[in-house]
Amino acid sequence: MPRTINLLVIHCADTPNGRWTTTGDINGWHRARGFRRQSAARSACNPALDAIGYHFVIYTDGTRATGRAPDEVGAHVAGQNAHSLGICLVGTDRFSAIQWAHLAVLVRDLCTRYGIPLEPADTGAQVLRGVIGHGEIPGTAKRCPGFSVREWLQRGMTPDPQHILLPKGQS
Ligand SMILES: [Zn+2]
Repeated sequence: MPRTINLLVIHCADTPNGRWTTTGDINGWHRARGFRRQSAARSACNPALDAIGYHFVIYTDGTRATGRAPDEVGAHVAGQNAHSLGICLVGTDRFSAIQWAHLAVLVRDLCTRYGIPLEPADTGAQVLRGVIGHGEIPGTAKRCPGFSVREWLQRGMTPDPQHILLPKGQS
């Protein structure tokens, strides 16, 4: 039976802004942290990735890569994995315009597909529903991602200019 998904959790890879990073790189880091995918889930989706905890990764060039299958429980957030999907932006606090655009498309698509409210999750609720930044979940010490997902949603998924990575040579 497919699991119930009612929360999108947005992360950053905590890599230098603009540095090329792939799901293979992230898989290696997650493997080193002891994450492991179950073999049946792995053979059904991205078998080369044996550890990655996220479901989607958005590269610096805007490419949407997949990690775990949506029906597979992720490993990306304490206490909320069972009912959520994890989306990771490569970088830390500045992302290319195409990354921002593809994040908005992905979030919109997933909210439509799973019936997830396209709004900031109410952090006071017993069950978190909606969209949230990892670091915005109560009890999370980490700043992840390096921008406010709540404010981004409230601005209609428009990035704050200070979080946009400009092409080299522009400032
Ligand atoms: Zn995170």
